Amino acid sequence: MTKGEVQGIISNMVTVRVDGPVAQNEICYVRAEGVDLMAEVIKVVGERAYIQVYDSTRGLRTGDRVEFAGHMLEVELAPGLLSRIYDGLQNDLVAMEGLFIERGMRTAPLDYEMLWEFEPLAAAGDTVSAGSWLGRVREQWIDHKIMMPFMMAGRYEVRSVAPEGSYKITDTIAVVADAEGREHNITMVQRWPVKMPIRAYVDKPRPSRIMETGVRPIDTFNPLAEGGTGFIPGPFGAGKTVLQHAISKQADADIIVFVACGERANEVVEIFTDFPKLDDPRTGHKLMDRTTIICNTSNMPVAAREASVYTGMTIGEYYRSMGLKVLVLADSTSRWAQALREMSNRLEELPGQDAFPMDLSATISNFYARAGLVRLENGETGSVTFLGTVSPAGGNLKEPVTESTKKAARCFYALSQARADSKRYPAIDPLDSYSKYLEYPEVVEYLDRRVEQDWASMVNRSKTIVRRGKEANDQINILGDDGVPLEYHERFWKSELIDFVILQQDAFDKTDANTPFVRQRYMLNLVLGICDRPYEFSGFEQCATFFKTLINTLRQMNYSEWESERFAEYRKEVDDFINEL
Ligand code: ADP
Ligand code: MG
Repeated sequence: MTKGEVQGIISNMVTVRVDGPVAQNEICYVRAEGVDLMAEVIKVVGERAYIQVYDSTRGLRTGDRVEFAGHMLEVELAPGLLSRIYDGLQNDLVAMEGLFIERGMRTAPLDYEMLWEFEPLAAAGDTVSAGSWLGRVREQWIDHKIMMPFMMAGRYEVRSVAPEGSYKITDTIAVVADAEGREHNITMVQRWPVKMPIRAYVDKPRPSRIMETGVRPIDTFNPLAEGGTGFIPGPFGAGKTVLQHAISKQADADIIVFVACGERANEVVEIFTDFPKLDDPRTGHKLMDRTTIICNTSNMPVAAREASVYTGMTIGEYYRSMGLKVLVLADSTSRWAQALREMSNRLEELPGQDAFPMDLSATISNFYARAGLVRLENGETGSVTFLGTVSPAGGNLKEPVTESTKKAARCFYALSQARADSKRYPAIDPLDSYSKYLEYPEVVEYLDRRVEQDWASMVNRSKTIVRRGKEANDQINILGDDGVPLEYHERFWKSELIDFVILQQDAFDKTDANTPFVRQRYMLNLVLGICDRPYEFSGFEQCATFFKTLINTLRQMNYSEWESERFAEYRKEVDDFINEL
């Protein structure tokens, strides 16, 4: 293995003279004050490697020894990843009993003693290659496939597979032979480099289905595709975290990977205390049972935070190759971009806009491109849907991270300060936001089948009503209530109807928070039906009173259980009220 010697230190950036070959992104360990500090190569020039240390470099001296590991940053993948809380380097934070990892300390990411009930899926004589399913174990409530390691290229013949029984993850569960007849023992453990996407699939078809989130302004107005990408930019306090938490609870996904980059100091603590308590409406168990959390701790240097989004994505890709629907959430990716900026500045690279690295846009695009729907070798499909938040300084959507992410993600859920200020939650701006999936013919067709014939045009019609209402409101604000035709008031109130009944949703009300598609369809039909009726109001006051009353009753419907007696009562109230007019 290549060795080196510390030559220069600027905070976490260390220059090392090396005595042999080193690779970009290779992992190395710096021996400082008796502990090994993990680090990553970020630049190599001749015999000099620039490394960023994932720990405090306090006390590090020139001349200190460095050992290179010969591999990139990896995660260990095996049954037992679910319900864990890791840091970006896959240290188990629960095992650490807290958020403060001592310098140089590493913890085991998995339990090597625990027994799993293994059931074979392959048999002696089968031909297998990277990703083939050799067997399965039950992990919580999912079928965790034991796969041929993805780093083993070529075809192999299965010599034997372990019989049904209890095994540790490090036990041999299969023996395979390569073309030369050499035998390899396969265990349940794989190691994947986090920054290099593994092609664990045959192809990546365009997403064609919608991932239901139960959040109306997303599902109804700008749906996220299963295997798709989206991002939520919004100023501090606009509701990014609340929205992501709601989605993690409600989304139609098998596995959740939550990357918490910690906007505020106490947020990470809340993840520890609150997330494990959440109930899972899908399984009746805890949401944590099918979740892995990657958490940046407060004492972690920025450099180590950069790894966490990659670690989260890699765990997502691993479960995807078992044919599962995975949702990867990251809050906030701005922290990641800041880490990239800090590294780039220490390298004294020529900076791009706002001192972010020149290749920021490419880095973000490459990362988002790892999400997707995939077709596996055995014909099954799996998906990683990715949704990140961005916290632009001062809410300025023209800053580089927001702009770069906009190029990379296909859904844009812009949280508006004005909406948050007027407590119109979730503060997703209905006019600025978009979902490019609504332009995919196969998605439109899916919605026709899954929701309702011509659903996409109904959605467009609703957006038009909202836009025209805003325009009318601008006129009213300038010219006064009496200065505009009555029709303008009607337009404004129709848009308010859609806003209050469809777009606003209380994340803290059990019923309102999660609206299934069948219910979203019902409500949009009801609301559009009201908008389509001809009205002859006597004046703008009557128009306002009429719509306010309707909005109140329809909101009561949103708070009532679906198809309950109360729901029906409110529905009748709406009908009676309209017919009275
Ligand atoms: P951010 O992550 O953008 O800084 P948060 O998600 O922490 O903002 O939200 C800030 C506050 O806004 C929350 O504590 C909550 O009071 C309110 N809020 C956000 N979204 C909603 C919602 N959908 N329903 C009700 N209140 C909300
Ligand atoms: Mg937040």
